[in-house]
Amino acid sequence: MTEHNPLTLDEQDLETLSRQLGRPVRDVVEIGARCVCGNPLVATTAPRLGNGIPFPTTYYLTHPVITAAVSRLEAAGVMSEMSTRLHEDPRLAERYRQAHGAYLAARSAIGERSGIGPVPEIDGVSAGGMPTRVKCLHVLVGHSLAAGRGVNPLGDEALDAIAEWWTPEQCRCDGAWSTDAPVPERDLSRHTKTQGLAPEDLDRKRAERRSAGTGGTDAHCSH
Ligand SMILES: [Zn+2]
Repeated sequence: MTEHNPLTLDEQDLETLSRQLGRPVRDVVEIGARCVCGNPLVATTAPRLGNGIPFPTTYYLTHPVITAAVSRLEAAGVMSEMSTRLHEDPRLAERYRQAHGAYLAARSAIGERSGIGPVPEIDGVSAGGMPTRVKCLHVLVGHSLAAGRGVNPLGDEALDAIAEWWTPEQCRCDGAWSTDAPVPERDLSRHTKTQGLAPEDLDRKRAERRSAGTGGTDAHCSH
C-alpha cells in the first residue's frame, strides 16, 4: 500500500463518502472505484464490521448520480428481465457464476489486506442475487466499477444502460452532493428514516416503492 494506490482512502475520501451518502460511513477500508476527477464512486466495506457482524456486500455505490441512474433501471424492470435471461442463456449464466466467484475472491483479498482475515460465516455468499438471480443492480454496478469491464456481465450491461446519465469517462460530480453543509457526523438513520435523505435518495425510495408495488421479489433492492 503506497500513497499512490487508488484504493487507499484518506480523510478527504471519508468526508466525500459521508457527503455523498448523507450519513457518516463506517467500516470502509478502501475506495473500490474513483471518478476520473478522483472522487470516490464505490466504497469498499470490510467483510466483517467493527461490531463483529459479517458483511457480504463489499462494494457500495456512493455516487448519487450513478445510484439514481441505476435506480431508474430497477424501476424500469431491468432486473426481472435479466433474471429471465439468466434462466434462458446458459453462457450468460456461466459468466454470471464466474462473476460471483470473482466477487468472493476479491472480498477475501480485501479481508486479508485490511487485516480482518477470513469470515467463514459468509463463505460462498456474495451479493446482489449472484450467482443465479438479480436482486440489486447497485451491487452489480458497484462490482463492475471496482473490478473493471469483463468481470460482471450484468453489471457491465447496467453500466452501458445508464450511459445517458453517467459514463466512466466523464466527471459528473459537480453539484451531485452538498459541499457546503457540515459533514454528516452522527448516524441519525434510526430517527430520520426518510427526512434525512437527499432528494436523490428520496427519488430512489419512491422508485423502489413503485417497483415493489408492481413486481415480484426481484423487482426492488434495499438501496
Ligand atoms: Zn468527478
